[in-house]
Amino acid sequence: MTETTSTGRPSVVVLGGGYGGVSVAKTLDEVADVTLVDPTEGFVHNVAALRTLVQPDLVDRIYLPYDRLLVHGRFVRDRAVRVDGRRVELESGGVLEPDYLVLATGSSYPFPAKNDEPGLDAAKARHRAAHEELARAGRVLIVGAGPAGLELAGEIKAFAPDKHVVVTDVADDVLAGPFVQELRDELRRQLAELGVELRLGVKLRELPGAPPATRGAIRVTTTEGDEIAADIWYRTFGVELHTEYLDGGSLAGVRDERGYVRVDPRMRVEGETRVFALGDIANADRDVAAAAGRQAEVVAGNIRALITGEGEPLEYARLGPLIAVPLGPEGGSGFFGDGGIATPEMVAELKGRDMMVDRHAALFDVSPDEAQ
Ligand SMILES: Cc1cc2nc3c(=O)[nH]c(=O)nc-3n(C[C@H](O)[C@H](O)[C@H](O)COP(=O)(O)OP(=O)(O)OC[C@H]3O[C@@H](n4cnc5c(N)ncnc54)[C@H](O)[C@@H]3O)c2cc1C
Repeated sequence: MTETTSTGRPSVVVLGGGYGGVSVAKTLDEVADVTLVDPTEGFVHNVAALRTLVQPDLVDRIYLPYDRLLVHGRFVRDRAVRVDGRRVELESGGVLEPDYLVLATGSSYPFPAKNDEPGLDAAKARHRAAHEELARAGRVLIVGAGPAGLELAGEIKAFAPDKHVVVTDVADDVLAGPFVQELRDELRRQLAELGVELRLGVKLRELPGAPPATRGAIRVTTTEGDEIAADIWYRTFGVELHTEYLDGGSLAGVRDERGYVRVDPRMRVEGETRVFALGDIANADRDVAAAAGRQAEVVAGNIRALITGEGEPLEYARLGPLIAVPLGPEGGSGFFGDGGIATPEMVAELKGRDMMVDRHAALFDVSPDEAQ
C-alpha cells in the first residue's frame, strides 16, 4: 500500500490524453490525486478523423475538452520535455514527481488522420479547410495502402463517387500485417467495385512537393517512369512515436530497436515498479486504440491495487489480428476473431456507420447533443 501525499491521496501523473491516457486518468480519479498532462486542449477521437473530410459536421463531435474529464484531479496543458525515473520536467519549467507515472504519449500520423494543431479552434478549422480542399479536387492520390489509406479511399468514393482515386504502395498487396489473405482479397474486391485504382508494388521517385491535403498540381513519377497526376494528395503512412522526453534520462534505454517502450505483462516499464507505459508507445501489442483501451484497464487496475492494497495484479493479453477497415459507411471488411472475415454489415455496425463518435462523450460528461 502506498503512503499518501499532503492532499491525502497518492499522486498519479498521466502524460498524454489519448485513448489510453484519458481512460487511466478517469478510472483513477476516485482513488488518487490525478494530474493529466497534454499540450493540446482536448481529446481527439481520431478514429473518425478521416470521415470529417467528407462529413465536416462531425468535426465538433470528435474533439472533447480535457477540462470536463476529471472530477477531483486536474488537467495541465503542458508538454513533458524530460522524464527521469518518476521525475517529469514540463516545457513551462514546472516539475512533477508523482508516486505513480503513466506514459501514454502515443504517436503522430500525417494529417488528416491525426492533427497536430494544439488549439481546439485551430484544429477544427484545419479539418474544415481540408474538406473544402478535397471538395474542389477531381483526382486524388493516396500514398500508402494500409488501413488508413484504404479507409480514406473508401470514404472519398462513398461520398463523392465521381472523383478519381488512386492508391499506391511499394508493397505488392494492401494491408501489410498479421492478417489473413482472404481479408486483403475482399478489400481489394470492394475497392475495385467502388472504382478505386490500386497501383501496388510501385515505388515513387519522390513524394509530391506540394503539402498533403491541399489542392495543387500534383505530378509524381514511378521508378518505372510512369506519371501519376492528381489535384490533391494524402500521405497515409509513417507513424512517429512520442518518446523524445526519455532521451538522456534514466529510462532512455528502455526503448527497443524500433523505439517502443519495453513493458512487462503488468504494463510496467522494464525495470520499474511505479512507472507504466501503454498505447502506441508500448511494445505490448499493435498500435491500435482498442489495445490502448485494454492496456489502460490493466494499468489503472494495477495502480489501484498498489494504492489500496486490494486485488490481484492484472496482466495484459494481446488482441491478436483484430481489425475493422470500413470502406465508406456501409462497406469494408475486417477480422473480429470469430472465424471468418467480417461482412460489410458487421463493419458498418461496429464502426463505419457512426465511426464510434459518441463512444467517449460520456467519459467527459458531455451529452452527444452538447458536442454538436
Ligand atoms: C485514421 C486512423 C484510424 C484509426 N482507426 C482505428 C480503429 O478503428 N480502431 C483502433 O483500435 N485504432 C485505430 N487507430 C489507431 C489509434 O488511433 C491509435 O492506436 C491511438 O490513437 C493510440 O492511442 P494512445 O492513447 O496510445 O495515444 P494517442 O491517441 O496518440 O494520444 C497521445 C496523446 O499524448 C499527447 N502527447 C504527446 N507527446 C506528449 C508529451 N511530450 N507530453 C504530454 N503529452 C504528450 C498527445 O498530444 C496526444 O493527446 C486509427 C488511427 C488512425 C490514424
